[in-house]
Amino acid sequence: MVQGSALLLESRLSPMWMDFLRRAGGIAQGRGEALYLVGGVVRDLLLGRGIVDLDLVVEGDAIALARRLAQELAGKARTHPRFGTAKVEMAGWSADLASARSETYAHPGALPQVTPASIAEDLARRDFTVNAMAICLEPAHFGQLLDIHGGFPDLKARLIRILHPGSFMDDATRILRALRYEQRLDFQLESETEALMRWQTKMLDTISGDRLRHELELIFQEEYPEKVLARAEKLGVLAAISSGLRGDGWLTEALRCARRLGEPRGSTLELCFLLLAYPLGEAQVESFIRRLHFPAQVSRNLRALSRLKALLPSLAAPDMSPVRIYHHLHPFSPLTLRAVSLALGPGMPKGCIDLYLDRLRSLSPFLDGDDLRRMGVSPGPRLGRMLRALLEAKLEGKVSSREEEQALVKEWLEKGASGGAAPGRGGKPASR
Ligand code: ATP
Repeated sequence: MVQGSALLLESRLSPMWMDFLRRAGGIAQGRGEALYLVGGVVRDLLLGRGIVDLDLVVEGDAIALARRLAQELAGKARTHPRFGTAKVEMAGWSADLASARSETYAHPGALPQVTPASIAEDLARRDFTVNAMAICLEPAHFGQLLDIHGGFPDLKARLIRILHPGSFMDDATRILRALRYEQRLDFQLESETEALMRWQTKMLDTISGDRLRHELELIFQEEYPEKVLARAEKLGVLAAISSGLRGDGWLTEALRCARRLGEPRGSTLELCFLLLAYPLGEAQVESFIRRLHFPAQVSRNLRALSRLKALLPSLAAPDMSPVRIYHHLHPFSPLTLRAVSLALGPGMPKGCIDLYLDRLRSLSPFLDGDDLRRMGVSPGPRLGRMLRALLEAKLEGKVSSREEEQALVKEWLEKGASGGAAPGRGGKPASR
């Protein structure tokens, strides 16, 4: 079915993109190939949402066409021959180009076997009707909508619908994708799609940890990941990923705060995983780590969560001094500490963690080992103990300048010479 008009494109895309699409359609036609705008960009155009990139599919050779477009339109082609895809980079923006292909799955969850195909077959391999539309860029039909699977009526009815009943079996990552689009677009799962999803959550077992983790990362990058996770919990999807995962109320606030921290992208994602794992017991954390195949560093932080949770009662003790807080929390990574702080309500253990993160963690003595050696301390364990004692004096607010630290060291050295208790004598550093 072909319908619609170029007016839609004219009204939604910048003149620069329009010019590119018209010329690209013409150049493809000159090569005997038909070019289409496809997938999310078509969906978002029809919904009047912002477009960030252009996804194109050609019935033909995407790599050869990308090279030709780059040549004629003063751009640059980056090609990926293994995948039959390419990117045409223009000044400040780019367009992705793929050859139309069909996909078959040797078994549920397998990566698809790919064969060159028509645009109709390419659309038939896609996840949801609203993502399976194309806009023709051939000059004679420029701007016309190709909607074989009823994506347009589903957009109007605000429905996420799979293309065929075996869709989640072929690729269960679509379960998480469906929830992501449903919540992002404020749509509803179409009733049969929802029933199949509930029935087939077990198919998530066919998906590798890396792919599953990637899908969760995409969820965390949504504007409201908590809405997707709440829905995933309700439909049994979270439990199917790993037992004990919850997407309820407290996570909403914690994820919101995590995003507000504005950490670099990688650490925000890790923080989100730590928050998701926060309610898990030790054994559940282990299966979560195994299931999502986390890298070693993230696994270490996930395991540390349980140890830190076990410390919380002692952190709530009324006599917690900065030195004690420092020694309790120093072994933990800032990200693990931040996750637990975000997961806790206002009050004492949280106050201690925040004090450590915001102030104590970055404190260090003004004097270093070289300074102590110049003052007459010989290298060895005693020097290390003195540095620790200096840090503790600083944490306690007993010293606040280089001169005060030097005075303290002199005092210790004199006491040491006269047999008094100073850090150099193996005595414990100041009050623990
Ligand atoms: P977003 O706005 O999240 O980028 P998108 O629709 O562009 O949305 P992509 O993940 O970039 O999403 O995928 C591009 C298109 O490829 C989708 O619109 C969909 O048609 C198809 N697609 C992606 N993943 C799958 C999948 N697992 N199964 C079937 N089709 C898929």
